Amino acid sequence: MIELNDLPLRDELKGVRPYGAPQLDVPVRLNTNENSYPVPDEVVDAIAKAVQGELRELNRYPDRDAVALRADLAGYLGHGLTGANVWAANGSNEILQQLLQVFGGPGRTALGFTPAYSMHPLITTGTGTRWVDGLRAEDFSLSVEHALAQVRKHRPDVVFLCSPNNPTGTAMPMDVIEAVAAEAPGMVIVDEAYAEFARPGTPSALTLLPVYPRLVVTRTMSKAFALAGARLGYLAAAPAVVDAVQLVRLPYHLSALTQAAARAALGCAETLLGTVEAIKAQRDRIVAELGSRGLAVAASDANFVLFGGLADSTAVWRRMLDHGVLIRDVGLPGWLRVTAGTPEETDAFLAALDRSLS
Ligand SMILES: *Cc1c(COP(=O)(O)O)cnc(C)c1O
Repeated sequence: MIELNDLPLRDELKGVRPYGAPQLDVPVRLNTNENSYPVPDEVVDAIAKAVQGELRELNRYPDRDAVALRADLAGYLGHGLTGANVWAANGSNEILQQLLQVFGGPGRTALGFTPAYSMHPLITTGTGTRWVDGLRAEDFSLSVEHALAQVRKHRPDVVFLCSPNNPTGTAMPMDVIEAVAAEAPGMVIVDEAYAEFARPGTPSALTLLPVYPRLVVTRTMSKAFALAGARLGYLAAAPAVVDAVQLVRLPYHLSALTQAAARAALGCAETLLGTVEAIKAQRDRIVAELGSRGLAVAASDANFVLFGGLADSTAVWRRMLDHGVLIRDVGLPGWLRVTAGTPEETDAFLAALDRSLS
C-alpha cells in the first residue's frame, strides 16, 4: 500500500504533522478550550427554529456574502463597525486560511512569536507561505523592542499576534500590537479567539482598526459562545480587507444552516455568554490553586491556564489521563495547559493532579 511519504507531496508539507489534539472519550475533557457548558435549552430552541426555517429552501444556494449574519456580528462587536467591516467563515481557522491565501503564498513570509497558536504556522505552510518564528522571551513575554526588531529584520507580508495568547493565556500589551501595526509593511492579524474571557480593563485590538488599515482582528463563536460544533469564525477589518478575502473564498462557503444557526445564537448572545463569568471564576481558582502548590502559572485572560515547574510534564499528562482527566501537552517541556470549565471539572482536575504529582 502507498504511504503518505510516497505521494508527490509539496516540499513544504513533507514531514509536517496534521493538527492533532486528541479527541478521546474520557470523563473530563479539558484539552481544547471548548466551553464546558452545553447550549442552554432556550438557545437550542431558537437555533432549531431558525434552521427549520431554512430547510425547504436548501435546494437553493445560501447567501454567498452572508450579509445579514455579518451585520449581526458587527452589531455584537460594536466599536462603530458595520457588516462591511466583517467577514465570516467556517471557524476562525478558515478565516486565517483565507487571509493567508490572499496576503501570503509562495515567495511570501508570515511572522509569528511562539509559543502561540499551533495553527498559525500550519496554515502558513499549508498556503505555501514561509513561516518565520520570532519567538518569545523565556517567560513567554513579548517586548515592543523584540517584536519590532523581528518585523524590521524579516519584513513579513503577514504578522500573527495572538491576544489573549494560546497557550500561555496572557493578553498582549496594547503597545506591542500598536507598535507592530505601525511598523509592519504587510498585514497584521490579531487572533482574539478568547477576547470575551479577558480580565477587566483589557482592551481589544478592535479599538485600533480606525487607525491601522492593514490590521485584522479575528474572533470565533467556538469558545465564549459555546458553539465550537457550529463552526463560525469571523474577522473585523477595513472593508477593503473584506473585499480581498472574497477573491479566494469558495463560493457559498458558509451554509444556509450555519448562517441561520449563528444568527439565532447571536440573538441569544446574553444567554450564551452567561457562562463566561462562571468560567473566569474557575480559571482564577485554578491559577490560585496551582500557585499554592508551588507550580509556575502564567497569568490568564482566557478560559485556560498554562502551568509549569513539572519535572516530567509528559508523564504527568499521561497519569492525568489514567485518572480520567484529559488536559493538553502543548509541546513545551515542563508545562501543561488545562481548560477552565465547570466547578466539578476543576475539582476533578485538582484531585487528579494531586494524585499525578505525588
Ligand atoms: C480555538 C482557537 C481558535 C478557534 O478556531 P475556530 O476555527 O474558530 O474554532 C482560533 N484561534 C485560537 C488562538 C484558538 O485557540
